Amino acid sequence: MEIIRLRGLGVSPGIAMGEAFISERVVFTSRRESISERQVEEELKRLQRALERTRQELTELKEHVRERIGNEQAFIFDAHLMMIDDQMLLSSLEKIIREEKVRSEWAISRVNAHFETLFDSLTDEYFQQRKTDLSDVLARIYRNLERKRNKKEDSDKPTILVAHELLPSEVALNISRKKVIGIALDMGGQTSHTAILARSLGIPAVVGLHDISLQLKSGDFIIVDGTDGEVIVNPTPAVRREFQSKKERYEVYQRELKKIARLKPETLDGVRFKPLANIELPEEVKAAFSYGAEGIGLFRSEFIYLQRLSLPSEGDHLAIYQKMASRTYPRPVYIRTIDIGGEKSLPQLNIKKEPNPALGLRAIRFSLKNRELFRTQIRAILKASARKNVRLMVPMITEVEEVIELKLIVEELKAELKEEKVPFDENLPIGVMIEVPAAAVLIESIIKEVDYVSIGTNDLIQYYLAVDRGNESVSYLFKPHHPAVLRLLDRVIKVVNREGKEVTVCGEMAADPLSAIILLGLGLRTFSMNPIFIPKVKKALRAVELKTAEKAVAEALKLKTAREIEEFMIEAILRRHPEAFLMSQIVS
Ligand code: PEP
Ligand code: MG
Repeated sequence: MEIIRLRGLGVSPGIAMGEAFISERVVFTSRRESISERQVEEELKRLQRALERTRQELTELKEHVRERIGNEQAFIFDAHLMMIDDQMLLSSLEKIIREEKVRSEWAISRVNAHFETLFDSLTDEYFQQRKTDLSDVLARIYRNLERKRNKKEDSDKPTILVAHELLPSEVALNISRKKVIGIALDMGGQTSHTAILARSLGIPAVVGLHDISLQLKSGDFIIVDGTDGEVIVNPTPAVRREFQSKKERYEVYQRELKKIARLKPETLDGVRFKPLANIELPEEVKAAFSYGAEGIGLFRSEFIYLQRLSLPSEGDHLAIYQKMASRTYPRPVYIRTIDIGGEKSLPQLNIKKEPNPALGLRAIRFSLKNRELFRTQIRAILKASARKNVRLMVPMITEVEEVIELKLIVEELKAELKEEKVPFDENLPIGVMIEVPAAAVLIESIIKEVDYVSIGTNDLIQYYLAVDRGNESVSYLFKPHHPAVLRLLDRVIKVVNREGKEVTVCGEMAADPLSAIILLGLGLRTFSMNPIFIPKVKKALRAVELKTAEKAVAEALKLKTAREIEEFMIEAILRRHPEAFLMSQIVS
């Protein structure tokens, strides 16, 4: 058997080695199988039995997922159960079987094709998503017409899940099972739901592999290297040994990480810093703390919308924020209001496609144009703040007027809640993200209006350097250490520190050891990042003296290019603190 090596995007680190299980899609029949008049009733019963099995299966799945992952994922099955009981769906299927005298398979295939054409004519993302859900349910009924249980799927043997992409229910189902030790997908990106869940569950995953699901068959031995984004099919014994030892190194590294997680976050000369975590789901809180987070520095609330079929109510928001607040308590949680619009479209709303989404109606701009949605969200955040560990954070501020408007809304809602005698934190800290260069330039005025700021370097660099953060062809220009970027950061951090207020960085930059040392030298003390990077950054910051970092950065700021800055900083830090970058070496 020939060895195949495939490159993709490593979205959850670690190495998994084992047998592949191809999660195959149901292919609806294209064969119209007729039955006689006499067989019609029996066929209808067969369909009913399949529906009943599907109902049972979905109810079990829902419970299973609720136990393993939580209510947020289990809601998918409520929607699917509702579809099963939908009278229109049922009568369409029965009508085809009765009138055309055909097998249920053909009826399901017809109904699926009908809805596909219907939904395809509507370009709205909401309907596209519903199409996926409906196909998911129809495929389940289809499979249940034949009572063939997939033995492999039920076995407890550790397997690596390989698929084209994972449907909503498959994501929740498959990775809720303990037997899945790795994931490899044709499709997907860093922020896909699968990626996030895999990371929080510690399952190595590689996505964006193009056609791996076609190149493999179930039972093939594969290696998933989620750290370097590689998948190896049918490895030779030598390659297996190589990865076995990489796996062991990674496990040692993980144990080391957990040890670091428990160490005090302070520099060599005893200056405290605060590592916080960026997360998207309340289920990630526990893992974040195990990596040493001292709070949740960025809770990206848009996932509340992306997970639902309908618009979340105040109660839906509140349930999640309360969960966040109580799981995090007494540590802080910075809840960011939705950063949606543009390319992160909201399926429940009819958002127009924009020609230039990054510069369009996104984040606070969208929220201020959709007041009721915004008010609902802020009311829930206020309500969840009663124990005083919640902070309100607003993305994409461009001008002071937006901050003033935001504060007016918060004041109005506080008055409402007071009237209703609902407890909340009267001093709920209000902060804004600095991610538009104009806001960075205006920092003196903005900081006077808020309690803290959080610098979103992902967007700030994108807008400052005019480099699309998601565009591969210009990624070589996305330079966090570009002298212009560092000078801008220097200014923001200094101004906020002078005001005696808090400044954090919650962009990816905070997760890189060299960048973190630079930021420390610029005066930053609070770093928020994907939790898996906390130990690495903590290790780097614990290995340096503040003085060294400050002195080196002051010199580096005078240099002309990112490269000069990097070389200079590495030299200056390594000379005094050779162990500062040790962790980054172990990982690679
Ligand atoms: C950022 O822009 O740096 C940030 C943290 O926000 P997001 O990545 O969600 O845009
Ligand atoms: Mg941003």
